[in-house]
Amino acid sequence: MQNTNNIIYDLHCHSTASDGALPPSEVVKRASEKGVHHLSLTDHDTVKGLIEAQHAADQYELSLIPGIELSVSWENKCLHIVGLGINPTHSELLSGIEEQQKIRSQRAKKIADKLEKRRIYGAYDAVTEAAGENMITRSHFASFLVKNDHARDLQDAFDKYLGQGKSAYVSTQWADLPSVISWINNSGGVAVIAHPLRYNLTTRWMNRMLTDFRDLGGQGIEVVTGRSNKDDINRTQLFAKQYDLYASTGSDFHAPDQWVELGHLADLPHESKPVWELFNTVV
Ligand code: AMP
Ligand code: MN
Ligand code: MN
Ligand code: MN
Repeated sequence: MQNTNNIIYDLHCHSTASDGALPPSEVVKRASEKGVHHLSLTDHDTVKGLIEAQHAADQYELSLIPGIELSVSWENKCLHIVGLGINPTHSELLSGIEEQQKIRSQRAKKIADKLEKRRIYGAYDAVTEAAGENMITRSHFASFLVKNDHARDLQDAFDKYLGQGKSAYVSTQWADLPSVISWINNSGGVAVIAHPLRYNLTTRWMNRMLTDFRDLGGQGIEVVTGRSNKDDINRTQLFAKQYDLYASTGSDFHAPDQWVELGHLADLPHESKPVWELFNTVV
């Protein structure tokens, strides 16, 4: 667990506003039950869950840091940048999100077309219905594939169809890194590189990415994520130190009994600068 004077932070998780299993209020309730004091709800390319989450946070006396996880195209790779402490009503951020939503919807059509070529029909209607007003993600497709017996489980759906290079994978042009960092910074937030070791970057590419990120005004990196081991944490802390980045911690919780639990996080290394030093909240 993340402990600084026994204060537990979890600054990355998802609700039904994107590809999480629980509605925002249930995520907050669960976080509170798991002992989290400071939570950031960071749904993919949407701030839609934040109002409901804030109501629940008031009820459970938990501090909610408004957040988002934005998809970014950088050097033909997809990166995820978390924005913490954003103003979810900021117009520049909102128009950026609107663009990302269009990209998601167009991509969903292309994914469905690719599935049709594999004689899997009805995916588009199913995912748009399942997502409703919320963000359509590949996880929605994965659920559809599992439900219709085309995959054993979500992982199998990614391995067979949805993962990079698989038959229904669609390479997507998301917003670029300068735009995403400026939406976050201009709305008063802190830009944080999500799960930096999950992009399979060589050290050389990692250094290029961190240099660009830092030069563009990015300030944070997830040193601890729900699935990091000691080596991962030490390695990421070295990057944080080298690039003078603040350290964040977040489970990337999506659903109960799947991958990781809210608030179940290793401590940040002592030498790190915690990202919450940048927040205006009193702890
Ligand atoms: P998207 O942003 O729509 O491309 O969807 C990405 C989401 O799919 C991630 O945030 C994960 O929640 C989920 N995801 C990605 N890869 C996998 C995988 N191999 N197995 C299960 N879920 C995955
Ligand atoms: Mn996700
Ligand atoms: Mn992510
Ligand atoms: Mn995430």
